[in-house]
Amino acid sequence: MINAIYPGSFDPLTLGHMDIIKRAANMFDNLTIAVLDNMEKMPLFSVEERVKILEKATIDMKNVRVIAFNGLLVDYAKENDIHVSVRGLRSDTDFEYELMIAQNNNVLSEEALDTVFLATKPEYIFISSSGVKEIAHFGGDITKYVPPFVKELVYNKYVK
Ligand code: ADP
Repeated sequence: MINAIYPGSFDPLTLGHMDIIKRAANMFDNLTIAVLDNMEKMPLFSVEERVKILEKATIDMKNVRVIAFNGLLVDYAKENDIHVSVRGLRSDTDFEYELMIAQNNNVLSEEALDTVFLATKPEYIFISSSGVKEIAHFGGDITKYVPPFVKELVYNKYVK
Protein backbone atom coordinates (compact mmCIF):
# COMPACT_ATOMS: atom_id res chain seq x y z
CA MET A 1 0.00 0.00 0.00
CA ILE A 2 1.36 3.40 -0.93
CA ASN A 3 -0.02 6.23 1.15
CA ALA A 4 0.46 9.72 -0.24
CA ILE A 5 -0.19 13.21 1.06
CA TYR A 6 -1.06 16.37 -0.89
CA PRO A 7 -0.33 19.40 1.29
CA GLY A 8 -1.42 22.92 0.42
CA SER A 9 -3.28 26.03 1.48
CA PHE A 10 -6.21 25.53 -0.92
CA ASP A 11 -7.38 29.11 -0.26
CA PRO A 12 -9.50 28.59 -2.29
CA LEU A 13 -9.58 25.16 -3.94
CA THR A 14 -9.08 25.56 -7.71
CA LEU A 15 -9.60 23.38 -10.79
CA GLY A 16 -5.80 23.02 -10.90
CA HIS A 17 -5.80 21.49 -7.40
CA MET A 18 -8.74 19.23 -8.37
CA ASP A 19 -6.84 17.88 -11.34
CA ILE A 20 -3.82 17.01 -9.16
CA ILE A 21 -6.12 15.39 -6.55
CA LYS A 22 -7.88 13.19 -9.14
CA ARG A 23 -4.62 12.07 -10.73
CA ALA A 24 -2.92 11.38 -7.38
CA ALA A 25 -5.96 9.45 -6.09
CA ASN A 26 -5.71 7.19 -9.15
CA MET A 27 -1.98 6.75 -8.70
CA PHE A 28 -1.78 5.90 -4.98
CA ASP A 29 -3.72 3.57 -2.67
CA ASN A 30 -4.63 6.32 -0.23
CA LEU A 31 -4.41 10.08 -0.54
CA THR A 32 -4.54 12.45 2.41
CA ILE A 33 -5.17 16.09 1.57
CA ALA A 34 -3.51 18.21 4.25
CA VAL A 35 -4.94 21.70 4.55
CA LEU A 36 -2.26 23.93 6.04
CA ASP A 37 -3.32 26.48 8.59
CA ASN A 38 0.13 27.89 9.32
CA MET A 39 1.12 29.29 5.93
CA GLU A 40 -0.94 32.42 5.56
CA LYS A 41 -1.87 34.74 8.38
CA MET A 42 -4.99 36.14 6.75
CA PRO A 43 -6.64 33.39 4.67
CA LEU A 44 -9.90 34.09 2.83
CA PHE A 45 -11.38 30.84 4.18
CA SER A 46 -10.73 29.47 7.67
CA VAL A 47 -9.02 26.11 7.82
CA GLU A 48 -12.34 24.53 8.90
CA GLU A 49 -14.07 26.01 5.85
CA ARG A 50 -11.31 24.80 3.53
CA VAL A 51 -11.50 21.27 4.97
CA LYS A 52 -15.29 21.24 4.40
CA ILE A 53 -14.87 22.46 0.81
CA LEU A 54 -12.31 19.75 0.05
CA GLU A 55 -14.47 17.07 1.69
CA LYS A 56 -17.38 18.10 -0.50
CA ALA A 57 -15.26 18.20 -3.65
CA THR A 58 -13.83 14.70 -3.01
CA ILE A 59 -16.94 13.00 -1.63
CA ASP A 60 -16.97 10.42 -4.45
CA MET A 61 -13.28 9.57 -4.13
CA LYS A 62 -13.23 6.72 -1.66
CA ASN A 63 -9.47 6.62 -1.05
CA VAL A 64 -9.21 10.35 -0.27
CA ARG A 65 -9.44 11.95 3.15
CA VAL A 66 -9.01 15.53 4.25
CA ILE A 67 -7.31 16.80 7.39
CA ALA A 68 -6.42 20.19 8.85
CA PHE A 69 -2.72 20.38 9.37
CA ASN A 70 -0.39 22.49 11.44
CA GLY A 71 3.23 21.49 11.95
CA LEU A 72 6.00 19.73 10.08
CA LEU A 73 4.86 17.57 7.20
CA VAL A 74 7.58 15.00 7.86
CA ASP A 75 6.30 14.42 11.42
CA TYR A 76 2.73 13.85 10.27
CA ALA A 77 3.94 11.55 7.49
CA LYS A 78 6.03 9.48 9.88
CA GLU A 79 3.17 9.06 12.36
CA ASN A 80 0.78 8.02 9.59
CA ASP A 81 2.95 5.72 7.49
CA ILE A 82 2.97 8.14 4.53
CA HIS A 83 6.01 8.07 2.23
CA VAL A 84 5.03 10.21 -0.74
CA SER A 85 4.27 13.92 -0.89
CA VAL A 86 2.44 15.07 -4.02
CA ARG A 87 2.93 18.57 -5.46
CA GLY A 88 1.81 20.23 -8.66
CA LEU A 89 4.22 22.07 -10.95
CA ARG A 90 3.12 24.94 -13.16
CA SER A 91 6.31 26.78 -14.05
CA ASP A 92 10.01 27.13 -13.44
CA THR A 93 9.33 29.46 -10.52
CA ASP A 94 7.16 26.72 -8.95
CA PHE A 95 10.02 24.33 -9.63
CA GLU A 96 12.66 26.30 -7.72
CA TYR A 97 10.43 26.66 -4.70
CA GLU A 98 9.15 23.07 -4.83
CA LEU A 99 12.62 21.60 -5.24
CA MET A 100 13.74 23.36 -2.06
CA ILE A 101 10.74 22.04 -0.09
CA ALA A 102 11.24 18.52 -1.47
CA GLN A 103 14.89 18.51 -0.49
CA ASN A 104 14.12 19.83 2.99
CA ASN A 105 11.54 17.09 3.48
CA ASN A 106 13.99 14.50 2.25
CA VAL A 107 16.65 15.61 4.71
CA LEU A 108 14.27 16.09 7.66
CA SER A 109 12.64 12.69 7.13
CA GLU A 110 15.97 10.94 6.56
CA GLU A 111 14.71 9.94 3.11
CA ALA A 112 11.44 8.46 4.40
CA LEU A 113 9.29 11.10 2.66
CA ASP A 114 9.87 11.53 -1.06
CA THR A 115 8.12 14.01 -3.36
CA VAL A 116 6.30 13.23 -6.60
CA PHE A 117 5.63 16.17 -8.93
CA LEU A 118 2.67 16.15 -11.27
CA ALA A 119 2.91 18.51 -14.23
CA THR A 120 -0.08 20.81 -14.48
CA LYS A 121 -2.29 20.30 -17.50
CA PRO A 122 -1.86 23.21 -19.95
CA GLU A 123 -5.45 24.37 -19.38
CA TYR A 124 -4.73 24.99 -15.67
CA ILE A 125 -1.30 26.57 -15.91
CA PHE A 126 -2.60 30.11 -15.40
CA ILE A 127 -4.63 29.22 -12.28
CA SER A 128 -3.48 30.17 -8.77
CA SER A 129 -5.44 30.69 -5.56
CA SER A 130 -4.03 34.20 -5.19
CA GLY A 131 -5.11 35.04 -8.76
CA VAL A 132 -8.62 33.76 -8.05
CA LYS A 133 -8.87 36.02 -4.98
CA GLU A 134 -7.67 39.06 -6.88
CA ILE A 135 -10.09 38.50 -9.77
CA ALA A 136 -13.06 37.85 -7.44
CA HIS A 137 -12.19 40.87 -5.33
CA PHE A 138 -12.69 43.08 -8.38
CA GLY A 139 -15.85 41.27 -9.46
CA GLY A 140 -14.27 39.27 -12.30
CA ASP A 141 -15.53 35.92 -13.56
CA ILE A 142 -13.84 32.93 -11.88
CA THR A 143 -15.97 30.24 -13.57
CA LYS A 144 -12.95 28.80 -15.40
CA TYR A 145 -10.84 28.73 -12.24
CA VAL A 146 -12.76 26.95 -9.46
CA PRO A 147 -15.45 24.25 -9.05
CA PRO A 148 -18.99 25.76 -9.35
CA PHE A 149 -19.88 25.48 -5.65
CA VAL A 150 -16.58 27.12 -4.69
CA LYS A 151 -17.31 30.03 -7.03
CA GLU A 152 -20.41 30.93 -5.00
CA LEU A 153 -18.54 30.64 -1.69
CA VAL A 154 -15.73 32.89 -2.95
CA TYR A 155 -18.14 35.59 -4.21
CA ASN A 156 -20.00 35.46 -0.87
CA LYS A 157 -16.77 36.42 0.90
CA TYR A 158 -16.54 39.63 -1.13
CA VAL A 159 -20.18 40.73 -0.74
CA LYS A 160 -20.10 43.75 1.54
P1 ADP B 1 0.92 26.72 -1.40
O1 ADP B 1 0.19 26.28 -0.18
O2 ADP B 1 2.26 26.07 -1.59
O3 ADP B 1 0.94 28.18 -1.66
P2 ADP B 1 -1.35 25.92 -2.92
O4 ADP B 1 -2.13 25.56 -1.76
O5 ADP B 1 -1.90 26.96 -3.80
O6 ADP B 1 0.14 26.17 -2.63
O7 ADP B 1 -1.13 24.64 -3.80
C1 ADP B 1 -0.72 23.41 -3.28
C2 ADP B 1 -0.08 22.62 -4.38
O8 ADP B 1 -0.90 22.65 -5.53
C3 ADP B 1 1.29 23.11 -4.83
O9 ADP B 1 2.06 21.98 -5.17
C4 ADP B 1 1.00 23.90 -6.06
O10 ADP B 1 2.10 23.91 -6.95
C5 ADP B 1 -0.14 23.10 -6.63
N1 ADP B 1 -0.96 23.91 -7.50
C6 ADP B 1 -1.48 25.12 -7.28
N2 ADP B 1 -2.18 25.57 -8.35
C7 ADP B 1 -2.07 24.59 -9.29
C8 ADP B 1 -2.54 24.45 -10.64
N3 ADP B 1 -3.22 25.41 -11.25
N4 ADP B 1 -2.24 23.29 -11.27
C9 ADP B 1 -1.52 22.34 -10.67
N5 ADP B 1 -1.04 22.42 -9.42
C10 ADP B 1 -1.30 23.53 -8.74
